[in-house]
Amino acid sequence: MSQHSDQPSNPKRRKLIQSAAAAFGVAALHASAADAAGNHTATAASGSAPAAAPPETVDVVVVGAGLSGLTAARELMRKGHSVAVVEGRDRVGGRTWTIPVGTRRYDIGGQFVSPSQDRVRALVTELGLRLQPVYSDAKHIWELPDQRIEFTGMVPSLSLIAKIDLGRVVDRMDQIARAVGATAPWAAPDAAALDAMTLAQWVREHSFSESTRQFATIMTRAVLGADPDEISVLYWAYYVAQGDSIEMLIGGAGGAQDSVIEGGSQQLSLRMAQELGKAVRLSQPARRLVQAADGVDVVTDTARIHARYAILALPPAMAAGIAFEPSLAGDRRELQGRAPMGRYAKVVLTYDKPFWRERGYAGDVGSLQGPVVASYDDSSAEGSALLGFIGGDSERAWRTLSAEARKAAVLDCFARWFGPDALKPLAYAEKDWTLDDWTAGAPATILPPGVLSRLGPALRQPVGRIHWAGTETALRWTGYMDGAIRAGERTAKDVLALLG
Ligand SMILES: Cc1cc2nc3c(=O)[nH]c(=O)nc-3n(C[C@H](O)[C@H](O)[C@H](O)COP(=O)(O)OP(=O)(O)OC[C@H]3O[C@@H](n4cnc5c(N)ncnc54)[C@H](O)[C@@H]3O)c2cc1C
Repeated sequence: MSQHSDQPSNPKRRKLIQSAAAAFGVAALHASAADAAGNHTATAASGSAPAAAPPETVDVVVVGAGLSGLTAARELMRKGHSVAVVEGRDRVGGRTWTIPVGTRRYDIGGQFVSPSQDRVRALVTELGLRLQPVYSDAKHIWELPDQRIEFTGMVPSLSLIAKIDLGRVVDRMDQIARAVGATAPWAAPDAAALDAMTLAQWVREHSFSESTRQFATIMTRAVLGADPDEISVLYWAYYVAQGDSIEMLIGGAGGAQDSVIEGGSQQLSLRMAQELGKAVRLSQPARRLVQAADGVDVVTDTARIHARYAILALPPAMAAGIAFEPSLAGDRRELQGRAPMGRYAKVVLTYDKPFWRERGYAGDVGSLQGPVVASYDDSSAEGSALLGFIGGDSERAWRTLSAEARKAAVLDCFARWFGPDALKPLAYAEKDWTLDDWTAGAPATILPPGVLSRLGPALRQPVGRIHWAGTETALRWTGYMDGAIRAGERTAKDVLALLG
């Protein structure tokens, strides 16, 4: 059993990543990964580059080699500009990571793609990759504390009253989302009032059926890694507007969980990084950003890179770990301190056959009994597998268990849903992103009451020569791979206009 760690100073992991890169044909990354990782180990956390070394000069320095940073860097390089991408981890891909589990590689981070996510789909095609639909045309399960509901199609077989209640609440929230919009939620007419209330309070006030409230908890744990009492109504409405509707966010076929990238999502980043070559510097966390009249310096443990502009392609909570000179102060700094990440872990279990399908199940479940809050079929022609997410308060409790107890609790869920065959996976892997120092939670940022209405504009507003990318700044599909790519493209365009 393996808890997949993503910390920078683990030589075993570094080796694994290098062989992963080799498997994807990213030979160019080997040398830079090894060099950079070695440098990092030697001077870990020193926080300042050798004073005598003259800074390297580029047009734009990008911090973060996730999908967003790599997209931005590639756009700039393609337009003839020099770039450097500094990345804290010893791999590219950030919140996407494709790891070996048994005989095949599986996504232990971002994975699903929806039909309307046209930027990620375009990148998949451009990079010669393919999408594979997720198996879903069979029975789905909802597991509430006191009932198990099995159903086909979209609507769960609740009592008539409960169904009407759920339908009304979902419709009402979709209406609010349309009014709030995906671009400037802080400017919506009711922004302050919607931001003063948690989603849990709102659902309590607008529903009369307990199952509707339970549904809301499953939904936000699965989609955001948070419980409904942790996020504001304004933030949830904005998140829904970014993905069009609640049905789209939680949907399988036709929704956000429609398809996966064959061979894994990290290939997107690995292939972009291959094109960028030596511009990508692994194991080089940005420690300081120094702005002056003529440019901005990014300081890592071993280098100082001078650029005309910097693009920070990471979540606000991670930007909070960088020292800014002069101080960011104001709304941006406050935002970075008040924008935590969701609590989220992912598990993958491989099997010799898809026994759940033989029993008529699609493999997807939404559960409040947990600890796994949502599961999906993760099979391909190469092997049968199930995946699960542990989010919100489920993750908090689960993470305190021993490794054996965590695995046992996960197997217990799948056995409850699909029978005892689930107890004997061929291989099992887990990664708790909440414990990952380079992300500090997942899948995305969550905003509690009082933040988005006040500090929202600071999400995208440049500060001097610093521009903000990352999925958290997207104008559509924030929190998703598609949003990360869009944000990278948008920021590159803004910076290109300034570079002239
Ligand atoms: C378990 C899980 C499941 C998910 N499921 C889906 C899904 O099914 N579909 C979907 O579309 N999305 C999903 N997501 C979300 C998706 O993966 C992210 O939205 C997307 O990958 C974010 O990309 P990004 O480039 O904006 O940020 P990141 O991927 O977080 O990239 C930021 C990079 O910055 C680096 N960094 C941080 N601090 C520093 C520093 N000081 N110096 C240098 N580098 C630094 C980090 O190491 C990281 O590589 C999931 C995420 C997780 C974790």
